[in-house]
Amino acid sequence: MAGRDGTVVCPGSYDPVTNGHLDIITRSSQAFERVVVAIVNNPVRKGQTLFTAEERRAFIEDATSELPNVEARIFSNLLVEFARELGAKAIVKGLRAISDFEYEFEMAQLNRKLDPGIESIYMIASPQYSFLSSTGVKEMATFGGDVGDLVPGSVAAAMAERLGER
Ligand code: ADP
Repeated sequence: MAGRDGTVVCPGSYDPVTNGHLDIITRSSQAFERVVVAIVNNPVRKGQTLFTAEERRAFIEDATSELPNVEARIFSNLLVEFARELGAKAIVKGLRAISDFEYEFEMAQLNRKLDPGIESIYMIASPQYSFLSSTGVKEMATFGGDVGDLVPGSVAAAMAERLGER
């Protein structure tokens, strides 16, 4: 496959996966040989998740079933360690606005310090998704907003059900 080389990891909490995440995952699958979507088991930064890690993984598997070089895995260790175990050469992340940049700048420097052999690559969000976050989608769904254009159908249905239980 000309122009493609090796494994990359797309990490995140994916609580739940949005069309913005899927855009980055799809574009990564076109640029690299193998893409492992790495789901943070218990995100420290975000606290309690709405969906379990297994549920978050199932949504991603379902939404990427047409992409043969994409797989979804849950991890609980350091991201660079997980990437190393997989033989990945890079971490690929999406960048939305300036607000993402500051956090990602810090993460990239820390990860480089931990393992200079694993590169951090940033893909600029597509304009139609540059405002989209899992947190925003959850907030909208909580108040009955229509999230049908923002997340896969199975995710929209599961969110309505889960948030309705609260
Ligand atoms: P969120 O910030 O939505 O809770 P995650 O922690 O799951 O997302 O993020 C995983 C990765 O996906 C991060 O690199 C994040 O910048 C990226 N990402 C999230 N939403 C989008 C989007 N709408 N477009 C592009 N990249 C995104």
